Amino acid sequence: MQPKSNIIHLPVYKPGKSTDEVKKEFGLEKIIKLASNENPYGFSEKVKQALMSEFENTNIYPDGASTKLTDKLSEFYNVPSDQLIFGAGSDEVILMIARAFLVKGDETIMATHTFPQYKHNAEIEGAVCIEVPLKDGTHDLDEMLAKITNRTKIIWVCCPNNPTGTINSHDEVKAFLEQVPNHVLVVFDEAYAEYNEQNEYPDSLSLMKQFKNLVVLRTFSKIYGLASLRIGYGIAHPEIIHTINQVREPFNTTRYAQSAALAAIEDQEFIKDCREKNKLGLAYLKGQFERLGLSSYPAYGNFVMVDVQKPAELVFQGLLQKGIIIRGGHQLGFPTSLRVTIGSQEQNEEFINVLESVLNEIND
Ligand SMILES: *Cc1c(COP(=O)(O)O)cnc(C)c1O
Repeated sequence: MQPKSNIIHLPVYKPGKSTDEVKKEFGLEKIIKLASNENPYGFSEKVKQALMSEFENTNIYPDGASTKLTDKLSEFYNVPSDQLIFGAGSDEVILMIARAFLVKGDETIMATHTFPQYKHNAEIEGAVCIEVPLKDGTHDLDEMLAKITNRTKIIWVCCPNNPTGTINSHDEVKAFLEQVPNHVLVVFDEAYAEYNEQNEYPDSLSLMKQFKNLVVLRTFSKIYGLASLRIGYGIAHPEIIHTINQVREPFNTTRYAQSAALAAIEDQEFIKDCREKNKLGLAYLKGQFERLGLSSYPAYGNFVMVDVQKPAELVFQGLLQKGIIIRGGHQLGFPTSLRVTIGSQEQNEEFINVLESVLNEIND
């Protein structure tokens, strides 16, 4: 058997160690996982009720078109319902976009280092990935523009960027979109949009009215706390949504995911509360990093990348042995940095205590 030649080099996704594995390996009772930017406050109470009442419909296929959820989000964002598409996480929307738009030999532009799924899915379709290094941890939009050719199909922009947490301002993104040719799709991945309340954060939905080649990606996995249910969505011009729908599997999101997302949207109090707590958590971490003499990138999501000035792998291992799971920058292109999710105050304090002792041990 001969697989597609363009996938032979692709690694199989290797998840980080689970909480249970770490407990067992190091004989620990308590683990703090700050590795996947999950919501430390769980999810809305309303979601629990929605999931329980959906339970009895388990034998019935879901509504493939996610009609109720589409109507809800259409009202919530004030966008027509034909401008929305749902996926099993925004990961699947990325996959569908690559599948719908890219063929062998097409070019697609992305930052390095950024969310790996853009490159991964583009390579599966045989597209040529043009990678543009970050500038000070931020997308270098000018350089990305400079790389556009008549073969360019998609440009991926991650805002805030995972793993650095940085953003490009509204004005920068607008100026960028003004220069991208109409035939090039711009995918604007905003998995952490709801954490933002800064004025300079791009108002992507208003930009979409002007730029018909813009696709915005959002998800219920992060602030909404539904990561395990796998549901995310894209917002774009109806023609783009139609094209993506042509490659969508008929029942790509589950009943549970749709009902939970519907209930989650209705509880904006919970979201506001999470956003507030995240802001306090970030301020705490920033203060502690400063006390420890560590620099970090400006953070606009629920995670922060901090330069610990020591080999990330050593620090990662040191933290792991003491029950704290983070993402080591050695796996993300940042050999002396860590990407850490902003947890609850208790988790953040524990992380800082352990980090301080691990850094001291490495000094010895
Ligand atoms: C977490 C994340 C996603 C995907 O989340 P899903 O769980 O697939 O919705 C997409 N983009 C970025 C940048 C992320 O951090």
